[in-house]
Amino acid sequence: MPLGKALDVIVVGSCMTDLVSQAPRLPKAGETIHGHKFFIGFGGKGANQCVQAARLGAESAMVCKVNHKSQWLTIVTSSISSTFYQTSNAATGAASIIVNDAGENAIVIVAGANMLLNTEDLKDIQASLSRAKVLVCQLEISPQTSLKAMCMAQESGVKTIFNPAPAIEFLDEEFYKVSDVFCCNESEAELLTGCPVSTVDEAEHAGQNLLARGCGAVIITLGPQGCVVLQAKESTSKHIPTEAVKAVDTTGAGDSFIGALAFYMAYYPTVPLEEMARRANRVAAVSVQTMGTQISFPFKKHLPSALF
Ligand code: ATP
Repeated sequence: MPLGKALDVIVVGSCMTDLVSQAPRLPKAGETIHGHKFFIGFGGKGANQCVQAARLGAESAMVCKVNHKSQWLTIVTSSISSTFYQTSNAATGAASIIVNDAGENAIVIVAGANMLLNTEDLKDIQASLSRAKVLVCQLEISPQTSLKAMCMAQESGVKTIFNPAPAIEFLDEEFYKVSDVFCCNESEAELLTGCPVSTVDEAEHAGQNLLARGCGAVIITLGPQGCVVLQAKESTSKHIPTEAVKAVDTTGAGDSFIGALAFYMAYYPTVPLEEMARRANRVAAVSVQTMGTQISFPFKKHLPSALF
């Protein structure tokens, strides 16, 4: 099914149902504890990133596989074009999320139908993909499908953002070569490089390691420490700090950051990448101050005009 209009951002990725429990702390193995609140939300890294890009004003599209289309009203109501491939061979993906009083989380995802999105499905969107400005992929769908979408985008001159999440230890080297921006968090950078990544210096070291594998740029997000940005065309890495805020729930902060980055790459392609990262930090900092994933992502109208 073609996506129709010319698009700024296409996300080929996951849609999940988020089952969120708030509890004073995360339970230990074998333990049952009382929580204070439960809600069901829309999530999946792909959908989250797409929704954030759309909320900032990007013409966005989501390509994903689900069991029932009716579960994805959020995508429809966010003015996002979508190609939902349907399957009855697996349930729509689900994420069980526990958030503690410190705003930290523990998450188990069962990708289900997301894993059945395949390279054949991508043939239907080839024309739309070749006209888009930015493609975003992650690893909550099959890596082969993500890689194929990134290769198709690169061949058409479409900018690519790859988010290797959730992390896998052995990532096909091709992913680096087809990433204009390779954007990951601390734990993903650690797993991929084998280096510790908790300080800015360590992130810059790991970033050099990832950059040397062939990406155009690397961004490693560091939670309240902001992020580091490294570019193949420059020899230095830059730390982009963020503002101190009271975090209530950091779930989806990385997705808010990446969705914002995709918007900036599509809308302001001549703005330096460090400045895009500084603005994406500010968008993500808003998202951590409210509970929930997509519902915590800010709209353009709620953000300072200096970010646009
Ligand atoms: P998640 O997996 O929870 O979606 P992540 O681990 O992928 O998040 P982080 O590195 O924690 O991503 O955060 C992404 C971005 O969100 C950071 O670079 C920063 O801009 C912002 N951020 C996260 N936590 C905070 C915080 N406590 N205060 C301010 N900004 C934050």
